[in-house]
Formats: sequence, structure tokens, C-alpha cells
Amino acid sequence: HARVEERGGLRFFAPPMAAERETRLLLHADLREALSTGAVTLAYQPIYDLRQNRPTGFEALLRWTHPRRGPVPPAEFIPIAEETGLILPLGEWVLRRACADAATLPAHVKVAVNLSPVQFVGGEVARVVREALDAAGLAPERLELEITESVLLQRNDAVLASLRELRAMGVRMALDDFGTGYASLGYLRTFPFDKIKIDQSFVRDAVARPDCLAIVRSVAGLAAELGMTATAEGVEGPEHLAMVRGAGCAEAQGYHLGRPLPLAEIGALLGR
Ligand code: C2E
Ligand code: MG
Ligand code: MG
Ligand code: MG
Repeated sequence: HARVEERGGLRFFAPPMAAERETRLLLHADLREALSTGAVTLAYQPIYDLRQNRPTGFEALLRWTHPRRGPVPPAEFIPIAEETGLILPLGEWVLRRACADAATLPAHVKVAVNLSPVQFVGGEVARVVREALDAAGLAPERLELEITESVLLQRNDAVLASLRELRAMGVRMALDDFGTGYASLGYLRTFPFDKIKIDQSFVRDAVARPDCLAIVRSVAGLAAELGMTATAEGVEGPEHLAMVRGAGCAEAQGYHLGRPLPLAEIGALLGR
């Protein structure tokens, strides 16, 4: 059991070094406080529809500015939040904030929220999502939930039940960071996703490497055949954009198209 969870990237069972543990404890206390003082915010990165050539969605990304350390990257504080359970209130805050923000945007615009595998423990996630939608008065179709295959790696009936409940609600489901895990193809059979997000490592390499290009093209074709949307992550330059377009991706996201921005700045991107 423990081995499976390690493979799934749920690192909270491995004891960190003493010094590292202390830093983590301090950061945890600071993060808990940040959540109540408003030092945690969301940035929104545009997701472009490549046929319409305009953003039709935005991915909500957590931002934390520490009073002394400055900005702390999610890669650093999300694992701490997962280990300590703080990801539950933090994740609920993200859902509520993102749904409320989405409700202020034009009706054709969706908002994507990342969910941690830890949020699926306990079977409460569908209720939390429902409450966030209701509080914001947001149509479920306008919310997209991004999960990585580590959620499915838990191979747990309760997890699948939560996923099905979310889907039955009308929320869209995306498989994030596709290609970086262990047995990605199997997961497409386990659960009917609406979207596959092709990991940025493939997109970055596909410009120069024919084998990576073949992977991007195949995943885009596979998604189309399964009735799913293929979204390319990590489009950093015009060469990446041309490549993912040629490979048949329906959507793209990356610094070349737009960096994560505060909500107040995305109106301009939507031409208002
Ligand atoms: P992700 O969900 O795969 O999000 C995409 C990450 O790639 C973001 O990093 C984004 O800023 C970055 N990115 C976008 N375009 C480019 C590009 O062209 N080049 C490069 N090099 N990077 C690009 P960020 O914001 O640092 O987030 C990292 C990860 O942290 C996310 O990966 C996600 O797994 C996690 N995360 C962020 N916000 C949340 C959240 O609210 N909840 C949970 N559970 N996880 C979150
Ligand atoms: Mg994501
Ligand atoms: Mg991703
Ligand atoms: Mg990622």
C-alpha cells in the first residue's frame, strides 16, 4: 500500500531531514496564516482555442508572497500543504475564489482549477465543489478540474465515485501533465476525461526532436478519437505554437500566449 502511494507522488510518508523539516514547519505556520490574511492569491493563465485564436479558458494558479522570503513557488509550498493537510482548506479556498472570479467573466470563458490527490481522500471533494459552484452561482460546465494520474493511482473505489459524481454534476475533467507518469494510457480507460493536457516537457522537446513530435502528434490524435480535447502546455515561443498547431492540438497554453496574470488584467485579453 505504502509503495503505491510513493509511486503516486504522495511524498508525505517519507520523513524529511531534520533541517528541512524545520523549514517546512515554519513555512506551514506561515502558509496557514497567509490563508487568513489574504497573502495567498490566484493568477490566471490563458488557455487558447487554436481554431478561434482566442482564450476560452484560464487556469487558476496559486501564488503566495511570503512577508520575508518573497514569492514562494507552488512546487515548494503545495507539497507542504499536502503533507500537513492544509491543502484541504487551501484547496477549498481556491475553488471558491476561482468560481467567484469565473462568474465575473463572459459566459464562454471557463476556469480550470488544479486538485491535489489529497483532496480526494475522505470522499468530500464533490460536495466541496458543489458548494463552491452554488456560492458563486456558476454553471458547472464553466469549471474544469485538473487532476494528475496520481489521483487515479490510488486505485480506490471512493476516488472513482468522487470523479463520477463530479462529472455527473456537469463539471469538466482534465488529465494534467499527461505523459509524465507511469501508465498514462491505462488511465484513459479508467475514467472518461474531457481533456488531456500534454506535459510541457514533450512540447519543449518536440520542436527539435522528431520522436517527441511523434508523441505530441499521437496524443493529439488519440484525444480526438476519444472525443477529448488535447491541450499543449509550455508553449514558450512561436516555434512551439506552430508545432502544436501542426500536431493537431485543439488548445495551447504557455508563456508565448500569456503568463499567469491577476484577475484584473485578464479582461484586456478578452478584448474588453
Ligand atoms: P500545472 O498544473 O501543470 O500548471 C502549469 C505550470 O506551468 C504553472 O506553474 C505555470 O505557471 C507553468 N507554465 C505555464 N506556461 C509555461 C511555459 O510556457 N513555460 C514554463 N516553463 N512553465 C509554464 P506554477 O504556477 O508554478 O504551478 C506549478 C504546479 O503547482 C502546477 O502545475 C500545479 O501542479 C501546482 N498548482 C498550482 N496551483 C495549484 C492549486 O491551486 N492547487 C493545487 N493542488 N496545485 C496547484
Ligand atoms: Mg494544471
Ligand atoms: Mg500541467
Ligand atoms: Mg505540472
